[in-house]
Order: sequence, then structure tokens, then C-alpha cells
Amino acid sequence: MERSVHAIVDKALGGGVLDVPELEHLFAVPKLSQEAYLIHYASRKLSEEASHGKAEVHGQLGLDVGPCPRDCRFCSFAMSNGAFGKPSRLSVDAVVEACHDFEVNGANAIYLMATGTYPLVDFLAMGRAAREAFATPVPLIANIDDFDDEGARQLKGAGFTGIYHALRLEEGMVTRIEPARRLATVGAARRAGLLVGTCLEPVGSEHTFAELAEKTIATRDMHPVFSGAMRRVNIPASPLSANPTVDYAQMALVLATVRLAMGRDVVGNCTHEPNRIGAMAGANLLWAEVGSNPRDMSESTVRGWTVQRARSELSEAGWDVLDGPSAMYAQG
Ligand code: SF4
Repeated sequence: MERSVHAIVDKALGGGVLDVPELEHLFAVPKLSQEAYLIHYASRKLSEEASHGKAEVHGQLGLDVGPCPRDCRFCSFAMSNGAFGKPSRLSVDAVVEACHDFEVNGANAIYLMATGTYPLVDFLAMGRAAREAFATPVPLIANIDDFDDEGARQLKGAGFTGIYHALRLEEGMVTRIEPARRLATVGAARRAGLLVGTCLEPVGSEHTFAELAEKTIATRDMHPVFSGAMRRVNIPASPLSANPTVDYAQMALVLATVRLAMGRDVVGNCTHEPNRIGAMAGANLLWAEVGSNPRDMSESTVRGWTVQRARSELSEAGWDVLDGPSAMYAQG
């Protein structure tokens, strides 16, 4: 017999581990129903308990633009989307300056993100330069192409605390990367002592509740420091843009359901893009993103908010915002 939303929410609040049918049931709840608000409430409660009431803002800097042969159709850098002709990269000085801005404005963790063509050796040099310039122990996180055990050890040696890595929705079908390769990278990172942040992404209106549920459990199996949900931002040339963008109200239900799937052991629940509803519904991690971005057609852009604006939005949603280095990346 199908379980009620109330029973599934009570199970999550009681420390139970939700399975695929239960998650499908929650994802299918109408976004403006009483039950949706129950899911929001329970998610918020779990997030507050998991993070001791402290929300965080992480800053991400995109290092380069250019056509990428991994060809993830949702990404502005995908070769087949044809948005970027000539590759270009930020200089070391520009990277150090942008990281400094994040640090002085109170980002709790700082990410360097690069396309699939960025050589690891160059990325490690950028990481070392950024690390050396920091005045505080703010964690430095890598968001890059797949790597093996040796790559993971090198990242750790260069001063990275962790990685952001995701097994994306329809990985291997709308990307040229085998799902097993994404998971192998997460395994290599964990063996090297790198912490992993991830989320359910990029959510589009074409995805079934079953797909969302299966990939949510894949994020849980990575033992991440945070999970959450990010919607796909439609890139004009992408064939996926025929599917309408998911609105923030729906994304609030998605990220709240992801939170219930993660339980109290996963500190963070993130929402990309400036989703205030998400901050009410349990997201305790917002982003400030500058430089290049796979969800934007410009070489240098700002996605979401600045660090200060994101901190302010979290406060408006009733969160205390952590000062100093990320508690999410202080585990282990
Ligand atoms: S998401 Fe990353 S790997 Fe995929 S096309 Fe974009 S830059 Fe390349």
C-alpha cells in the first residue's frame, strides 16, 4: 500500500532512510499543496539540526571558457552548442584577486572551476597560488574534470580540501562521460582524503520523478558534505532548451525532498541560482559565482548573488550565517 506524505516525512524526521518509491512520492506532490509545505518545513528542520542553525555562502570562480569535448548538452561550453570559439583563461593574478575578494567578503569556502580541457598541472598551479594568497584557512575546493587516484593526491597536496562533483541527470546520454567515470572520480577523491560536495543537477522539466529519486540516492551514496538541487538554465543553442525551465517553487520542493533523503548526517543542502524560496525550504548553502559559468553565455559573468547579498538573503530567510571557514568542509 502506498504510504502517505505525512508518514514518509515522519520517517525522515525520525532518522529513517528514504527509498526510491518514497522519494518519487514526495517529488510528485503538487508544489503549492499543503503537503509541499509540510515537506518544506521538515526539510528546514532537518537542515537546521544538521548545521546547528548555521547557513553558509560559498564562492565559485570559473577559470576558463572554450569548446569542451565532453559535450554536456546543458553546458554553454559543450562543443556541439557552439557558444565559444576560442579558448581563454584567467591569469594567475586575476584568480588570486578574485579569490581574495571572496575571502574578504566572507565566503566560507572558495571553489576553482574549470572546463574539461583545463590541464590538471595548470589547475594545480592555480590552486597553489590561490592557497598561498589566502589570509585565513578558508577551504579551497576543486570543480574540474574527472581524475584518478594520482590526480586526487596531487589536488590534496596542492592545498585543496575537497571537490564538487556530480553524477548528472542523464549522465552518459546528454554527456559524453560514462557514469562509472564520474563515480570513480568521487572514489579517488575520498581515498585521498578530499571531501565531496554534490547535488542533484541539472534538473529539467523533462526528468521523471523516478530519475530524480535514483540520482538523489546516488548523491547520498557519495557521503557528501552537502547535497541539494540545481535547475538547468537553458542555453540558447542547446537541444535541451526545448524543455521549459523548472521554476523556483518546484525547485524548493525538489531540494526539500533531497534534504529529507540525506538525513542529519549531511550538513549542507544547497540551491544554486538566487532561490529565496529554497532558503526558506531548507537550503543552508547559497552561492556567489563569478568568472566563466556553464550556465551563462558570457566569458565573465556573475550568477546568483554576491557573497554579501547571499548572506543577507539567508538572514532574511531566518538563518544565522556562519563567519569563518566552512563547517561543511571541516568534517572527517
Ligand atoms: S559541464 Fe564541464 S565537462 Fe561538461 S561540457 Fe561543460 S565544461 Fe565540459
